[in-house]
Amino acid sequence: TTMMSGSVYSVMATQTEPNTYDLVINGDSVTTVAGDYFETVNPATQKSFARVAQGREADINRAVTAATDAFGDWSSTPPEERGRLLNAVAEEIRSQEERLAQLETRDNGKPLSHARNDVETCARYFEYYAGVADKVHGDSIPLTDEYVDYTVREPLGVTAQIIPWNLPTNIFGRSVAPALATGNTAVVKPAEQTPVTAVEIAKLASRVGVPDGVLNVVPGYGSEAGAALSSHPDVDGVSFTGSVPTGIEVGKSAIENVTNVHLELGGKSPNVVWPDAHLDSAVNSTMTGIFANAGQVCSAGSRLIIHEDIKDEFLNELVKRIEQMDIGAGETDPDMGPLVSEEHFKKVTDYLDLGREEAGEPLVGGEAIERDGYFVEPTVFDDVDNDMRIAQEEIFGPVLSVITFSTEAEAIEVANDVDYGLVAGIHTQDVGRAHRFARDVRAGQVYVNEWFAGGEETPFGGFKQSGFGREKGLAAVEAYTQIKNVCMDITHN
Ligand code: NAD
Repeated sequence: TTMMSGSVYSVMATQTEPNTYDLVINGDSVTTVAGDYFETVNPATQKSFARVAQGREADINRAVTAATDAFGDWSSTPPEERGRLLNAVAEEIRSQEERLAQLETRDNGKPLSHARNDVETCARYFEYYAGVADKVHGDSIPLTDEYVDYTVREPLGVTAQIIPWNLPTNIFGRSVAPALATGNTAVVKPAEQTPVTAVEIAKLASRVGVPDGVLNVVPGYGSEAGAALSSHPDVDGVSFTGSVPTGIEVGKSAIENVTNVHLELGGKSPNVVWPDAHLDSAVNSTMTGIFANAGQVCSAGSRLIIHEDIKDEFLNELVKRIEQMDIGAGETDPDMGPLVSEEHFKKVTDYLDLGREEAGEPLVGGEAIERDGYFVEPTVFDDVDNDMRIAQEEIFGPVLSVITFSTEAEAIEVANDVDYGLVAGIHTQDVGRAHRFARDVRAGQVYVNEWFAGGEETPFGGFKQSGFGREKGLAAVEAYTQIKNVCMDITHN
């Protein structure tokens, strides 16, 4: 039945969905200058489901020009009006939730309910920043009776938004909504693996009245469209979410133009479990932390750092639940879908081989699944040393490395002994211990007794190699604005 309903859906979908996605520049769908397309593949079937305009430098130039021309009017649009428009975008995204979720699932492979959640999150970002738009203001600074001094927060100008494939719709909202709310215009380069929802949302924004040129989307490859965008001299701010090596390249080219840049990069996050943790909830959140989105999450809890006294009981329960997981095409809304692409499937299966070499046979999983699509088993390697590559490198798949500890000092040392610092979690009922961990761990956000805690309202970003700058919450206002100080001598008239 599972397979049947999947294929019935694809037949219906090809009849009702457009299968060509063009660029969105200046409010219009346009073809590329060169006129060519690439295919985007459904990772559950390995079949192409749409052709997408392959943007290149000439197309990026057109989009940046459109965003530059739109900037003056948009930045001087009353903030409450910008807020109304962003609210309209949020509503329109919600009204299209099911359609967008179905598209996201086919493009990325993720389970439908996860895709729905991502679409709702995207809507929520537009709603949250709609409310922020008219609350961005500066300070007044006392400088004796002789002066009036105040600051103004101004937009950066044209912002470049480079987006990864793992949470395409979610991260689109996370980075575009605050940029537009604060008066910037945007050129978005979605990931080549998952470009379709970005195109859909730009079209929908145009329909509800976002002015032409404010939000442009240019799909294409990173080395072509992405590189042209991040090195464009007329771009005033670059927001990059993706891997460390690409982030370094993007950062370098932004710095060449002295362009404001922030980088949201990868992670290898520690999930520390103490014997006094609530077992059921700790197992659940460990599963969510590493198997949600098939482990393809920057903030995945990929290192389980477990106390020796609870280890056996915990791992037994974990393995039992993993064996019950339903794995299948995202359209059937399983617990876990496929990996995003053939290339990524190769990377993750290479790590499964490496894990065997380094740590021996996994407790559970360890194989690719024999069927169409890029499926791998949820996998747990036990007896991992923190200096092994499977404990240090971001696998970005459903692969958990288990490291044992006995003292609090050891737990924090292992947690911090990694190049990344995106998130960290602890499961314990001991409040003091939880706060000591939160104090000592080098990570941008700390989860206590939950995984993926926080919301649109909470600042998010990395320590160490996980990047710099913050998105989400009011922190994003800082990322997308620059401060002007005005100082006036009032002793003469
Ligand atoms: P990636 O770095 O390969 O690609 C990210 C984006 O950059 C894509 O749009 C890609 O086309 C573009 N790109 C590639 N080369 C480029 C270049 N030379 N110049 C400009 N742009 C270029 O990352 P990915 O594989 O799509 O995503 C997975 C990575 O993203 C993981 O490391 C993950 O941890 C990270 N990530 C981080 C966060 C966060 O918030 N910190 C969120 C999601 C994903």
